[in-house]
Amino acid sequence: MKGKVLLIEDNEQNRYLMNFLLEKHGYLVIEAFDGPQGVKLAADELPRLILLDIQLPTMDGYAVARELRKNPALDHVPIVAVTSYAMAGDREKALEAGCTGYIEKPIKPATFIDQIEQYVDNAPRERRP
Ligand code: MN
Repeated sequence: MKGKVLLIEDNEQNRYLMNFLLEKHGYLVIEAFDGPQGVKLAADELPRLILLDIQLPTMDGYAVARELRKNPALDHVPIVAVTSYAMAGDREKALEAGCTGYIEKPIKPATFIDQIEQYVDNAPRERRP
């Protein structure tokens, strides 16, 4: 098992595809369908990486990223925004909100794992108590 990845994504097809690709490559996947659930799961499970959809109901991905970044236990955890927006300004907004980087929708199965593993590999090591 390579580590736990938290998906915060309201679209079932996207969740299914990301889950499939991640599990195939040895990751354990946990899923949240909205921001509040994702914030709670992140705190409880301390995943190795968080994939965060930007277009979410009630609480958008930017607000979720800001909330996640208030938790010092998640300092070392990369948050990768999953965005279908083509505009560079939206990516800037994701980074300003605390995301480590972003990947574009639609998810490309051939490159998805390489894309997210860059963030896993570059993440600072978890601090040991
Ligand atoms: Mn969505």
